[in-house]
Amino acid sequence: MHPHRGQFSRIGSFDEIVNGTNGTQKCCFVKRGLRTRAAMGLRPSMAPTGYLNSKNKDEKCQVVVDPLRAPVIKEMFEKVANENYSGRKIYKWLKEIHFTSKSGKYVTLGNIYRILRMTFYYGVFEYPEGSGEWYTGKHTPIITQELFQAVQAKIQVEKKKAYGREFAFTRMLHCAYCESGITAEEKIKELKDGSSNSHIYYRCTKVKNRDCPNESVKESILIDEMLPIIDMMSLDKTELKQKLEKEVARYALFQTGVLRQDLPQSKKHKDISIKTFAKYMLMHGTLTEQREVLSCIKSRILLRDKKLTVEKTS
Ligand SMILES: [Zn+2]
Repeated sequence: MHPHRGQFSRIGSFDEIVNGTNGTQKCCFVKRGLRTRAAMGLRPSMAPTGYLNSKNKDEKCQVVVDPLRAPVIKEMFEKVANENYSGRKIYKWLKEIHFTSKSGKYVTLGNIYRILRMTFYYGVFEYPEGSGEWYTGKHTPIITQELFQAVQAKIQVEKKKAYGREFAFTRMLHCAYCESGITAEEKIKELKDGSSNSHIYYRCTKVKNRDCPNESVKESILIDEMLPIIDMMSLDKTELKQKLEKEVARYALFQTGVLRQDLPQSKKHKDISIKTFAKYMLMHGTLTEQREVLSCIKSRILLRDKKLTVEKTS
């Protein structure tokens, strides 16, 4: 690895992400004097969205507030801090108002979180990134430090929620190829009409085999795969029964919705209801309810190319 290149390509790529540019403007990528510039309050890189690089060549790294985008950036922070907007909701809102970066691109969800974590907006920056050396910028802040901190507290909570979600199905699943654990990630797909949808994908962590060929699988497919397994399993009936009795209202819902269509009449009502209820919770329940069902499955379940099998216990 070329030490200098490594350093600058890192800064460059960060800016590419934040600014949605390919780094064609090289104004700040001269190695000599970068630290000096930082000490002068000039962040040695491209202006983040909400700011514009000064066009004056004598004012390298100087940034001015972008009158078009800065108010939106400020509003982003305010919506998160005061109106409990999630990153996703910000994403939708930005699409609605057709907000684009300087290069004319829509801002991705990743960009949004990067923006929300950028101290530059309230006036300070770290240079180099992660060095612990902080400078007060010469630029005009867009937001206050208080607003920035309020946003950090909110997105920290959001991160925890997303992290918790990951464990709905992961804990019980293992890769059938290499025995590694299974991890989950949310992927957001931008559609042509400007809207977006998201899916959770499960995949092998590849801890035990870096070249593991196991395919990733959508959560909805995983749930479909899980349903016949519920039929095969001996569930911990008492646990689910208690749950069942507690939630009479929900029970009525599944009775009319699921029970009527799916099940052969010949089976005894009592046997059916526990499993049907388990299936219903798996398909339509909250995360906690899905986990509750899954916790009743005592065997390990293996994932192989989008299919699930129950591990045979000897
Ligand atoms: Zn694997």
